[in-house]
Amino acid sequence: MADTKSAAPRVTYATLAAGQTPEFNKAYDEAVERVKATLGRTHGFLIGGKEIAAKETFADTSPSDTRVVLGRFASGTRADAQTAIVSARKAYETVWRDLPWRERVAYIRKAAEVIEKRRFDIAALMGMEVGKNRLEAMGDAQETADLMNYYCDQVERHQGYEVPMERLSDQEDNRDVLRPYGVWVIISPFNFPMALSGGPSSGALLGGNTVVFKPASDTPLTGLALAECYREAGLPPGAFNYVTGPGSSIGEELVTNRDVDGILFTGSREVGYEIYRKFSRAYPKPCIAEMGGKNPAIICASADLDAAGDGVLKSAFGLQGQKCSACSRIYVHRSVAKAFTEMLVEKTRKIAIGDPVKKENWLGPVINKAACDKYARFVEIGRKDGKILAGGEQLKGEPYDHGFFVRPTLIGGLPKDHRLMHEEMFLPITCLWEVSSVDEALDLANRTDYGLTAGLFTSDEKEIKKFFDRIEAGVVYVNRRAGATTGAWPGINPFGGWKGSGSSGKSSGGPYYVAQFMREQSRTLIRG
Ligand code: NDP
Repeated sequence: MADTKSAAPRVTYATLAAGQTPEFNKAYDEAVERVKATLGRTHGFLIGGKEIAAKETFADTSPSDTRVVLGRFASGTRADAQTAIVSARKAYETVWRDLPWRERVAYIRKAAEVIEKRRFDIAALMGMEVGKNRLEAMGDAQETADLMNYYCDQVERHQGYEVPMERLSDQEDNRDVLRPYGVWVIISPFNFPMALSGGPSSGALLGGNTVVFKPASDTPLTGLALAECYREAGLPPGAFNYVTGPGSSIGEELVTNRDVDGILFTGSREVGYEIYRKFSRAYPKPCIAEMGGKNPAIICASADLDAAGDGVLKSAFGLQGQKCSACSRIYVHRSVAKAFTEMLVEKTRKIAIGDPVKKENWLGPVINKAACDKYARFVEIGRKDGKILAGGEQLKGEPYDHGFFVRPTLIGGLPKDHRLMHEEMFLPITCLWEVSSVDEALDLANRTDYGLTAGLFTSDEKEIKKFFDRIEAGVVYVNRRAGATTGAWPGINPFGGWKGSGSSGKSSGGPYYVAQFMREQSRTLIRG
């Protein structure tokens, strides 16, 4: 993968629209050609610094065109997971645990530098593997480097988390230190295959732990790109191990093996909560589970409707609605409901759909056939119990026939406690309900098991205060055209869920993140 230096502007999720300059597009197009030349190879695990081939492999294909095989990847077994855990344990005990924290910071800063240099190639392969449009993909790559640097800043700010304490006598030297746990497993989802792998793994590594990392089976190639960046940064062999294969076999071993000391999982509530329940056996062990969302946007009578329309559109349909923070519920005041709905339908119809690697397309494919089938089922439910206001069909004909392209869909007219108000769909589908006050909207917004993100559009200060005070969600936004419920950035908008959306109450990209990968030790030394 080539290192690219570019004058193209720095892309974050909040500045996506401004990012697509001619320089950016040129650098991205060149990266696509470089990446295409590397596709189709067979890849093993990276364990203990060595590539290890597997007996069985699986094909990683592009959701835009399933005839394109991006690579073949090792289909790991429980035994392969055990090998990776042993390697991580050895690296922990012989090298990584005892490294001065400044050296660990230097390794992670180097990894961030490598990612930043390769960001166009990483973004190009995410376009092909995940179906992200070019700016969303660049945001993911850039965020990974920024998360790593932010976590390094935190470790430096806390001087390696060693705090001198008070003393009861002159002979005493009392210190409070944060120490690593040992081996952490990082399991990531398909939708942010770089940021949600690089962020958590760098947090664990900075905490002095070693890592076994398993990407989603839909995105092993981006996972491999991360592993290669760590290798290029010169991490000691075994500090970061990369394994691939089904969650049901290799993943099962990773979450039940007694030699694993901590887990950071990001993915669905169904899988995350199951892992959370079964991970601790002999004694409690840390399991950070970042899970799904059912994120509401509330549009009040005094809202700037155009800003609200843009914000909802971007959050409901960006990355095909496959963001944990996707806006999948809209509560709009009845006095502006008609105008808002007509505008949103109009904006939705204008969305350009197609191969997201091409600069003109904003909406790419959903991730796989299962997602397509799920889309058809939810649309059918919406049609039966409510009304399809926009979209509602799979795209057919060239150039869509070999990929998983569906129309962004707006559903109205559903009863207020309908299952689509509670279930995460993880698709480009959002539902709209009319409400008569911000109080009613807040009650409905909080009436789910999830609590990840939420948005409000209003010009009324009292409504803003009420929203901040009462909404049950970890990440909340008011009047944000760039995304009603989506778009966080390290050190700017920390990101984590409440209730069924997250187990730790701490946020990635926030000031309390790295400390989660460590445990406290109170040290008392008596001299003389
Ligand atoms: P899944 O829960 O299906 O999978 C997530 C990861 O878990 C994958 O690597 C998967 O592997 C693995 N896995 C599956 N079963 C097991 C098992 N039994 N043991 C161990 N590992 C297992 O999620 P998706 O990849 O579909 O991602 C979408 C979900 O992630 C959504 O619910 C979304 O809201 C959530 N998410 C949450 C975020 C947050 O910050 N709160 C951010 C981004 C996404 P395999 O692919 O091989 O099955």
